[in-house]
Amino acid sequence: MADQKNTFGTQPAPLMYMAKFEAGKWQEGKIQPFGDLNLSPFAMCFHYGQTVFEGLKAFKSPDQQVSIFRHEDNYHRLNASMERMVMPVLPRSNWDTGVLSLVKDLKNVVPSFGYGVLYIRPFVIATQAKLGVDAADEYLFMVVAGPVSSYYNQPLRMKVERHYTRAAPGGVGYAKCGGNYGGALLPFQKAKEEGFDQVLWTDANTHEWFEESGTMNFGFIIGDTFITPPVSDTILDGITRKSVIQLAQDLGLAVEERGFSVSALKTAFEAGQRVEAFGIGTAAGIAPFKSISIDGVDYSCYHEEDAQMYKIKSTLLGIQTGELEDKYAWNTVVSQAELLPIS
Ligand SMILES: *Cc1c(COP(=O)(O)O)cnc(C)c1O
Repeated sequence: MADQKNTFGTQPAPLMYMAKFEAGKWQEGKIQPFGDLNLSPFAMCFHYGQTVFEGLKAFKSPDQQVSIFRHEDNYHRLNASMERMVMPVLPRSNWDTGVLSLVKDLKNVVPSFGYGVLYIRPFVIATQAKLGVDAADEYLFMVVAGPVSSYYNQPLRMKVERHYTRAAPGGVGYAKCGGNYGGALLPFQKAKEEGFDQVLWTDANTHEWFEESGTMNFGFIIGDTFITPPVSDTILDGITRKSVIQLAQDLGLAVEERGFSVSALKTAFEAGQRVEAFGIGTAAGIAPFKSISIDGVDYSCYHEEDAQMYKIKSTLLGIQTGELEDKYAWNTVVSQAELLPIS
């Protein structure tokens, strides 16, 4: 809801991983107790936005098995974001210790099945102490984590953003770099003041073509077709989006990755078509929309219990938690947790 506080990720897990890049190479790094950093105020990350991050989840199955969803894709995307921000390629070994070994060590912090998941936040920052604008010579790769319950509970009221822009062609929209999110806060705040939960971003040139929703990808189900804008340099290549495309196909829906315009959506609403619309991302899985406001007019989206998006949502979650068969081998099992009382 618009006035609901976002408490996602406020509780850190007791361990974190940290590795330095110095003298031209990434060091081995280590898992250590969670704690504050000691950085020079000259550290370049504070000034020029050379920061990137990732977000992924570990799940506990009903029989206490801990697995991480599609983490190799996050590793590759982190390096794609780092390349755009002129950061040195992160070796796979740092990722494997930072993410897989860390989560294994945190197996008893992963919430029990049905009680939430462990959210994992790898990130890289420029730490060299220097005020000149340059690509830094020193970096820190860190992984922190924290238990979370589900992100969005209620269907969301969305506003089509026709003024502000998230990403422009040739820019950094496809990278998970910090500045993309700082720049989105003011449009988010304005939408909230107007009574909406989030914005639907449109293209920078015409504000007519849908791109993303808040910090998620998104899609529509109209009739028996799932439509989602194609990834580009302004649309982030979401791992949940890729998974939803597969699951939509499995459900027998036609999948169209194509541009979809605000006027086409308006026409569908005005023709009385049943429109399911939803955000797609790691934090929420699928976040159903209740309504979409186009130039001040609210249109209702279909979000009754029999909506097809809920089948995709529950299938995705079922695979992630090990309740359903993982037929695409999306999960990496990191450990079998001890049997503990429900926490
Ligand atoms: C992280 C992110 C997504 C979703 O990516 P997932 O891999 O599904 O979590 C979509 N859009 C933006 C802008 C993002 O930052």
